[in-house]
Amino acid sequence: MKIQKFGGTSVGSAQRMKEVVKLIGKNESSLVVLSAMAGTTNALIEIADYFARGNRESAAAMIGKLYTKYMCHIDELYSTEKMREKTRTFINDNIFKVLLSYKKSNFTPEMAKEIVSLGEIMSTNMLVNYCNEQGMKAVLLNALDFMRIDQYTEPDIHHLRETLVPLLKQHSDAQYFITQGFICLNHEGKVDNLERGGSDYTASLIGAAIKADVIEIWTDIDGMHNNDPRYVEGTQPVHHLHFEEAAELAYFGAKILHPTCVLPAKAAGIPVKVLNTMQPEAEGTLIDNIFDPGQIKAIAAKDNITTVKIVSTRMLLQTGFLRKVFEIFETYNTPIDVVTTSEVGISMSIDKIDQLANIVHELKQYGTVVVDQDMCIICVVGDLRSKNIGFESSITNALRDIPIRMISFGGSEHNISFLISQKDKKAALKALSKQLFN
Ligand code: ASP
Ligand code: MG
Repeated sequence: MKIQKFGGTSVGSAQRMKEVVKLIGKNESSLVVLSAMAGTTNALIEIADYFARGNRESAAAMIGKLYTKYMCHIDELYSTEKMREKTRTFINDNIFKVLLSYKKSNFTPEMAKEIVSLGEIMSTNMLVNYCNEQGMKAVLLNALDFMRIDQYTEPDIHHLRETLVPLLKQHSDAQYFITQGFICLNHEGKVDNLERGGSDYTASLIGAAIKADVIEIWTDIDGMHNNDPRYVEGTQPVHHLHFEEAAELAYFGAKILHPTCVLPAKAAGIPVKVLNTMQPEAEGTLIDNIFDPGQIKAIAAKDNITTVKIVSTRMLLQTGFLRKVFEIFETYNTPIDVVTTSEVGISMSIDKIDQLANIVHELKQYGTVVVDQDMCIICVVGDLRSKNIGFESSITNALRDIPIRMISFGGSEHNISFLISQKDKKAALKALSKQLFN
């Protein structure tokens, strides 16, 4: 079976939903993972926030706006009054009445999670009803019946397999299964969700659990591009990537694929395809475990990076210095992305800065600390195995006019990263494209 995941913009309007159903119908069977309609999750987060702050009036106003939107989508989507009525009733009773029933007085964080989950519940119900109106044999599966996270917020893969496989067998006459991305239950059985953009992760987890043939991630661009099209003209889709390359790109800036999505598919050896709903005939990007030797694939950038440098001549040649420094970041639950070291100092980059003041305060006991903000990571991905000589020099040569704060290479054979100031990002991306792809 094939997994097809459609993101928020792919189901962003009634018209887009119709297009998506056409794409689904081209397969003999598939399991479809859906995001909420574009903008809905943001709106729900805002509504929950108003409740949490005791501002029920503003919450109600936003609920009203969202309601009007969904009623229009429903009018436009279906061709029969019967299906319109059925969907309206569902959305009314299970979504909007529920939303309006929250009170400001006893509002809890759990309730906020419940509210955020409603976006995917709406989109999947609307879509399955449309499929059925079109005469397709489609069944809605409730993700909360099989998607669960443990107390460390890690997905419970065993539970997923044990519950989903029999569920699919129960509906052996169905051709299409529709389910929600992103939402799940937590270890206490309460409604929860994966990180923002987590529907890709759901699709990959499900694909691995049922040993799907392929996981298709349908989005609004024709695959992962070889550079950021917002900053560089003439970027090209990359037709093939190794999982490692895709993981680096997803993590270091390419917004197309959620970074966590790669892991389950890679472990299970299931190919992932990134495809474009607006241009379904485009080749897109195939991601699998096959490596193309001698090729540089793509460039990506990640913004809002902070670098922290600690220099300590006292620590020169002492053991345990790195550990002490890293432990401080760990204590404050702050992941380090890029690290470079010399005999007297360490530079590290982070993108989570809520604990920065505490970290700096503690680091100062060991040395002189320098912080640079508004930095970005530029990463180049491809065959950078050490025997494949020349690429590293060609890459650094492209950046000859750009002030570079850190360079990291050797942690992976697929990636070289540069820390530069955000204001130099566009120039760096352009220079790299010119050097590597022209
Ligand atoms: N609807 C969720 C979000 O906006 C999940 C997703 O789209 O993947 O983050
Ligand atoms: Mg997404």
